[in-house]
Amino acid sequence: MSWVRALARPDIVGLKVYEHAAWRPELERLHANELPWSPLGGDAADGLNRYPEPQPRSLIHRLAALYGVAPESVLVGRGSDEAIDLICRAFCRAGHDGVLVCPPTFGMYAVSARIQGAQVLEAPLRSAHGFALDEAAVLERCAPSTKVVFLCSPNNPTGNLLDESAMRRIARSLAGRSLVVVDEAYIEFADRASLAGAVREQPNLAVLRTLSKAHGLAGARCGALLADPEVIALLRKIIPPYAVARLTLDAALAALEPTALEATHARLATLRQERARMLRELPRLAGVERVWPSDANFALAEFADAGAALARAAAAGLLVRDARSYPGLARAVRISIGTPRQNSRLLDAWS
Ligand SMILES: *Cc1c(COP(=O)(O)O)cnc(C)c1O
Repeated sequence: MSWVRALARPDIVGLKVYEHAAWRPELERLHANELPWSPLGGDAADGLNRYPEPQPRSLIHRLAALYGVAPESVLVGRGSDEAIDLICRAFCRAGHDGVLVCPPTFGMYAVSARIQGAQVLEAPLRSAHGFALDEAAVLERCAPSTKVVFLCSPNNPTGNLLDESAMRRIARSLAGRSLVVVDEAYIEFADRASLAGAVREQPNLAVLRTLSKAHGLAGARCGALLADPEVIALLRKIIPPYAVARLTLDAALAALEPTALEATHARLATLRQERARMLRELPRLAGVERVWPSDANFALAEFADAGAALARAAAAGLLVRDARSYPGLARAVRISIGTPRQNSRLLDAWS
């Protein structure tokens, strides 16, 4: 038996999949109970009477080329959040299996696991060492029932990259035992190559990418899982049949055109400059006790009085993220890097 079939929930491996309406664009569609006319809502609605292609090949190929993996290694869905959910559901038997997370980190891993009835184990990042990955703790705490390890690099909310060789070693040590998922939602903002290329040589390593952050498409809901083709095939069995809406497909393809990608690179350069400015200016403000380095598009700052900082930002018409509920971050605020003007307004509000 392959490692994927051995690791996944047996009932999912054996699941008979829903047969969605066949995708035969060369034929006229009288097979999916759609209305034969476009909806009444202007040109933008043209063609929306039709169910979309389930895993749109055009987008899969674009994303595969962008991320440097084979098309068979790409699953596209409603943001990387959907992939996180599908992974928990496909691999964790409720009440038996679990996932491991490294707090303080993105909350969706634990939420998706708990919705599935999976146990959530923790190997906290080492705050005294810049929130570095605790490789030994991850390996030590992984139980035989730990099916998935979620690592986030750059990590949300702390902003730091995790050590690449440590992540690779963790995946190697857990080969055949756990799927190691590296969430790279913010990798485009870092000076570091993606781990996507490692998926082929290390099949239990998977990478999450998204169009929500660097490509400015959070509202479209489009993200991708890059993984071993057998993992992708398993998740395709359980992803809802029409996960990529037509409007999303159009927006994603447009954002991945060469000219759009060039403009994205220019924006990323501006954003990095602004991040450098914020990381330089924030620590100079009275009341700011610490600003953590960041490889992402946000900064994590600790205040003498975080409540007051949140209130002053709001009074200036700016919403920043209260990060005080994260373990070990009792006085922290997470600040998304905005336009130069927005950043200046925030600095003014706190001066
Ligand atoms: C924003 C974010 C995502 C992106 O989720 P989408 O569903 O793709 O919008 C994924 N992981 C982390 C850590 C994030 O901060």
